[in-house]
Amino acid sequence: MSRVISGGSEAAVDRSRRDFLRAATALLVGLNLPQTSLAGGGQHGAGGSGQRVVVVIFGGVRRAETFSPEGLENIPHLSRDLLPRALFYPDARNEGVTAHFNAISSILTGNWQRVDDWGKLAPTTPTLFEHFRKRLGAAQSDTWVVASNKALTSLIGASSASEYGPVYGANVVFPKQLMVAAVANALRAGRSRNMADRAKIEAELESMLEAGNYEGLGWTVFDGADRLDPRVRATIEEAITTFVRGGGPTSGDELTFLVSREVIRKFSPRLLVVIFSDVEVAHFGSYALHVGGIRTGDRLAYQLWQEIQGNSEYQNKTTMVILPEFGRDPDGSTTNGFFNHRGDTESTRSTWMMALGAAVDKPQIIERPIRHVDLCTTLAGLLGCPPMESQGARLAEWQV
Ligand SMILES: [Zn+2]
Repeated sequence: MSRVISGGSEAAVDRSRRDFLRAATALLVGLNLPQTSLAGGGQHGAGGSGQRVVVVIFGGVRRAETFSPEGLENIPHLSRDLLPRALFYPDARNEGVTAHFNAISSILTGNWQRVDDWGKLAPTTPTLFEHFRKRLGAAQSDTWVVASNKALTSLIGASSASEYGPVYGANVVFPKQLMVAAVANALRAGRSRNMADRAKIEAELESMLEAGNYEGLGWTVFDGADRLDPRVRATIEEAITTFVRGGGPTSGDELTFLVSREVIRKFSPRLLVVIFSDVEVAHFGSYALHVGGIRTGDRLAYQLWQEIQGNSEYQNKTTMVILPEFGRDPDGSTTNGFFNHRGDTESTRSTWMMALGAAVDKPQIIERPIRHVDLCTTLAGLLGCPPMESQGARLAEWQV
């Protein structure tokens, strides 16, 4: 397929600049707000199985560009390094709404969610975070979401279900948003070490905003409810500084990876969800950049696996799951093929899932179709939680 450039990219750039200013303004307002401790702190919850879970969610990727004969070259790590040790489900189905917030909340609650596509409403049934924390007394610092996906909001971390909600929710971090805030702060206060740094940071920020500004959604900088504990904030800002100073290839997902790694090293959460979304550049119509996003996700998922293997808190007691939110529309569709994920088609609904680590008794390929809602209840069992109300069924192959 040839590289296609969509129209409207100038508008996107304008919007990025506008959003940058809005972000800076929000930061100025936010600086005067009191901080509340969201990170939890204290001891890890003593309850449960002692098992740890890391879930890596990509945006929308089709089988055609991944686990198909012609797609394998885009996922060398998933196919060569990870598949041979995985429980692999080649037909993992999204039977709900194929939009980001609903897809991810369905995965994290075990029930098909049909709330606002842009995350203005929380999921209506408890997330795995809330279930885990309420039933086993796990600390907030044990449950994290780190996400590149700007179609999400902090409402992904907790539901609106009665007797649950934010008091049992996860720490939710959007590294790109924090970077916007950190850079705006640095520029405003004139505290960056030298002008070269400032120029570099500003350029970096602009390019990231342009790359990630899909689906017409503006940035929402953390409001009062999202204020982070100073220790958490310092950790994340450290990772952001590493990212900016690194000078290597950069993308939103690279930053999300670095922040996730810091979270693993500093907080060792029992349940960490990492959401990559470089692949969503597809909404701009560039096939080459979309495939580039798949390659980045492939590499970063593998690096995360390696990080877990080398960390004594995680080694041998962690299960890592990798799955896309959904596929994308088929070539030749009325919705512009890979640009979108709106079609009620196999290409959009059926992708794959792999599980690695402690829950894998023996590597195998499970041909039976599974549904995204099956994952949550399976993970609950793995963490030692009592069953949760879910439309899904436990995956029988897992060693729980
Ligand atoms: Zn999308």
